[in-house]
Amino acid sequence: VSLGIGGVFGLLLVIAMQWLLSQNQTMEALIKQGLQSHEFKPFYQPILHSKSGKIVGCEVLVRWVKEDGTVIPPYQFIPYAEDSGLIIPITEQLLYRVVRDIKKLGWAGTDKFMSVNIVPEHLYSDDLYAYIKNLKTDDSWDFKNLSLEITERRKIEDLQQAKVTLSKFYELGIELKLDDAGTGYGGFSYVQELGISTIKIDKMFIDVIGTDDMKNSVLSSIIAFAEASSKKTIAEGVETNEQVEFLAKHGVYKIQGYVYAKPMPFNELVEWKKVAKNLLTMKHD
Ligand code: C2E
Ligand code: MG
Ligand code: MG
Ligand code: MG
Repeated sequence: VSLGIGGVFGLLLVIAMQWLLSQNQTMEALIKQGLQSHEFKPFYQPILHSKSGKIVGCEVLVRWVKEDGTVIPPYQFIPYAEDSGLIIPITEQLLYRVVRDIKKLGWAGTDKFMSVNIVPEHLYSDDLYAYIKNLKTDDSWDFKNLSLEITERRKIEDLQQAKVTLSKFYELGIELKLDDAGTGYGGFSYVQELGISTIKIDKMFIDVIGTDDMKNSVLSSIIAFAEASSKKTIAEGVETNEQVEFLAKHGVYKIQGYVYAKPMPFNELVEWKKVAKNLLTMKHD
């Protein structure tokens, strides 16, 4: 039997696709095992007010911590978790820990928040809402100690349904932040449509501060937009004091980035808070 050149390529293509499929299935099975062993852990990256030096909240960033202590970063499994729908139970596993950690930090009755990344799928049903509501069994934490963030990089297909679900979160006092602002699909229409409270300025616009790059004007327009629409801002991926100062000059005071702290497990966050009291490296006024 002669396949010919096209036939050989076709066969190779089928083999390649089957291999990719089996990789996906293997990953899916591994994630399911990880879920059963509660291996998806929240790491916390503090967000500080550059003027007061006080912690205003943290972003919750998932890490897959294997039994042997190996820490797997999100980019290695989040895409599979999203494709398979397993991002839903992973997020719930995180939240279960997060509200207990909020309680340990004594944040009830304060405005401090833990900001959890969600995907559009979370907004197409009531499941996340129901899960979060059920987590609250007493007054050891408040709904406003939680916030959600959704990336602009991904399209929200069902905007109407998303709005309905979000309005329920807003009723509880849980805010929505726009992640990676300026990079993606939804643009500022999401901000208006979805009732977003806070715009997280993406690292790519922070990186160009102090360079000649034209993207500086994008940064200015994001800040101007936030101001004009009375939205709060957080700068993400801030690495230098120069950036902190530039942002402060332009009215952006909430800073998340290596300049202050990297994402860390809860026990390290507790230690970090003790020594971070005088972290402020800049002085205003
Ligand atoms: P993101 O939500 O935009 O999170 C910010 C990312 O920037 C984090 O990467 C953080 O560690 C990193 N970062 C913060 N400050 C700095 C800095 O000063 N310099 C540099 N170089 N990086 C900085 P991470 O933790 O690897 O997470 C990557 C992405 O994975 C997140 O981007 C988010 O899109 C996704 N992700 C993380 N955790 C979750 C989760 O629980 N659920 C979902 N759906 N996605 C998640
Ligand atoms: Mg985020
Ligand atoms: Mg992102
Ligand atoms: Mg981001």
